[in-house]
This record gives sequence, C-alpha cells and structure tokens, in this order.
Amino acid sequence: MNQTDHFKRSSGSADADLSGRMNDIDNASGVRPGIRIDLDAMDLRFADEVAGEPGGDAVRRCFACSTCTAGCSVRHVTDRFNPRRILRMIMTGQREAVLHSEAIWLCSSCHTCDERCSQGVHIPAIIIALRNIAAREGILPPGYEKQRQLLMSLGRLYEIDDFDNRKRDKSALPAIVTSNALIAGLAESLARDRAEKKPEAS
Ligand code: SF4
Ligand code: SF4
Repeated sequence: MNQTDHFKRSSGSADADLSGRMNDIDNASGVRPGIRIDLDAMDLRFADEVAGEPGGDAVRRCFACSTCTAGCSVRHVTDRFNPRRILRMIMTGQREAVLHSEAIWLCSSCHTCDERCSQGVHIPAIIIALRNIAAREGILPPGYEKQRQLLMSLGRLYEIDDFDNRKRDKSALPAIVTSNALIAGLAESLARDRAEKKPEAS
C-alpha cells in the first residue's frame, strides 16, 4: 500500500473518521449514534505508547468535556478534525485508525486548546507524538514525505537553485549554498542509527 492509499483508506472508512460527525444527532431519528469502535482492531497499549512520548504523559487526564474542540481554530474551518475525538480514539485503542488518519496532520499547533483545557492535556504535544509514531512506521502524507526526502538529500526543506541566487544577486543579497551537506549528513547518520536499532521483523 502506498502512502496516498493510507490516507484514502482513512478518509473512506467510518472507523477512521475522526471528525466527530458520528456524534451528531441524526435528524430523522433524533438518536445520537456515538463513537463506533472496531473491537477487532483495539490495541489497549496505545494510550501507554502515546503517554511514553515526550509531552504525551497527560493523555489519560482527558475527561472528554470538548472544550478543546469548541475553541479549536482548525475545527472552526473543517469538520475533518476534532481533537476530543482523537483523544477518545487513543483511549479506546484505535491505533491503526488514528495513525492512518489525515486528521493528525491537520492541527496547526496554535495552542488555543492548551490554554483552555482544565485537565492540563497538551494536545499539540500529543498530536506531535502521534505524528512521530506514524512517521516511524512510514505513514506520512505525500507532502511531508517529499519534505523528508529533500531534507535527507539537500539538508533543506526546499530546493535553492542558481535561479534563486541570480534573483538574490539582483537585490544585492549574498548567494546562499544550494545544499547543506552538514545537515544532510546528520540526517543520514540519524536514519542509519535508527535502522540499526530497529528490531528484526519476525
Ligand atoms: S479540553 Fe481537555 S479534558 Fe476537555 S476534551 Fe479537550 S483535552 Fe479532554
Ligand atoms: S493546537 Fe491544534 S488541536 Fe489545539 S486548538 Fe490549535 S489546531 Fe486545535
């Protein structure tokens, strides 16, 4: 499965829908359907895994009040994102659904939720923890994967070429190096270290 498929799969599956739409009251029946949990896919170690990441330790304090979601700047513009729901999915062990969801890449790290959460749950840190776990498993949106490749090959997140330097020259700005071998070397050696530490697949 390629990376685009990972995200198609998440957006096309009700189990991976982190928007919160499934909590909306059905107008026809007046019933609130609630969160749909895939029991076969439950991984109850997931909350511990997130708690073990830097900044993730407060994940269990969430009591689902939804104050974070009410003030979330991203939720305000799209119902594809719901921080309270992501936390509920973590606590109910929906590891695969969360890690394959595009929602974990939508948080803008504005920290509004941090200011408002009475339980001291640091959602931006938890979102970064989820992204780190996903990235370690090779689950990256195509745009982030491209940036990773550029960082590894050039030591930069975007390419600088002679055209850019000619424009800088016209504005009397000094030329900048087109690649940063030092950072690219560090990124490579980090990747090598990680590959060596990775346990053999059984
Ligand atoms: S505001 Fe805090 S306690 Fe309330 S749902 Fe959000 S993370 Fe959980
Ligand atoms: S940090 Fe992320 S989850 Fe929190 S309010 Fe901002 S966009 Fe929403």
